[in-house]
Amino acid sequence: MSPSIPIPLIDPFQRRVKDLRLSVTDRCNFRCVYCMPEEGMKWLPREELLSFEELTRIARVCVAHFGFEGIRITGGEPTVRAHLPVLVGMLSQLGADLAMTSNGVKLPEMVDDLARAGLRRINISLDTLRPDTFLALTRRAELPRVIAGIDASLAAGLSPVKINAVVMRGINDEEVVDLAAFGRDRGVELRFIEFMPLDASGEWTREQVVSQQEIVDRISAVFPLVPRHRPGAGHQEPAELFDYEDGRGAIGVIPSVTNPFCGNCDRVRVTAEGQFRTCLFSIDEFDLRTVMRTGGTDDDLAAEISRAVGTKWAGHSIGQVNFIRPKRSMSQIGG
Ligand code: SAM
Ligand code: SF4
Repeated sequence: MSPSIPIPLIDPFQRRVKDLRLSVTDRCNFRCVYCMPEEGMKWLPREELLSFEELTRIARVCVAHFGFEGIRITGGEPTVRAHLPVLVGMLSQLGADLAMTSNGVKLPEMVDDLARAGLRRINISLDTLRPDTFLALTRRAELPRVIAGIDASLAAGLSPVKINAVVMRGINDEEVVDLAAFGRDRGVELRFIEFMPLDASGEWTREQVVSQQEIVDRISAVFPLVPRHRPGAGHQEPAELFDYEDGRGAIGVIPSVTNPFCGNCDRVRVTAEGQFRTCLFSIDEFDLRTVMRTGGTDDDLAAEISRAVGTKWAGHSIGQVNFIRPKRSMSQIGG
């Protein structure tokens, strides 16, 4: 039974946990080099995936028991899950802010249905505006359709539409200004993400990371930026925000490697097969699917979520000697 008033979920470091990243599939129609190998991914068998009812049940417990405020649908590529608008319709009934992260390629044909079903906001991944680099990065020649997906999302009234761009040295770092200009032209905020050691190939090196400082300096040299100061403790936004001096929008940088936002982290994740994780880089997982499939009640689910959050770390330690790479890649965790 749900409590009449949600009880905030506080982790051992006094952070309130209130944002759920819900992975709806481990599959994808792209093979981004920073996420998946070209071949040989082993997909979860159908019966291991959470059903729409199970996904919604977890989300409902998070909202009703703990007052979660945000739910973000992710994957893998969420748009390859069959009947996704049905799930969006179910999740939108919960009253939390409903968002999605997508590679964008299926949005031209799907986004109207998603918006009608209750999706409010979207982040679309676009790391380059050059067709050859796009092909090298995603191993798919789909740049025009991704751009069409961004435009279709704007036309469908999703707000905000943001663009996620992972920046990798020697691959797309020369393009940060072009990407910023693309965002300014469309009134869309760019989110530059430092490359993290979550690639399936395990080839991540620190040298490939382009720092927040360098990204901001490059853009600011052409379109001057001013840091946005957010007064008060504990803003829970992973991105550092910078406004264009001329008033034409803003960018965000997610400095996961050079300046992690762990101190303000308010998020937890559920993988497509129902494993609850308190950090992208967690080693431990908590098996919510088994709780549900062995007849557990909502209170049992809430208790398991609460137990998991009791183990949430202060932060990850990328780049330090005690860092342990998670066994799963970003697509398997749910980015
Ligand atoms: N398929 C969707 C997409 O690409 O937007 C959603 C899932 S994807 C795993 C979520 C986000 O993680 C994307 O913006 C992607 O660029 C980012 N990502 C994947 N691997 C990454 C890595 N190694 N470092 C930083 N960001 C990464
Ligand atoms: Fe697919 Fe997203 Fe991973 Fe690219 S980043 S391979 S689009 S899940």
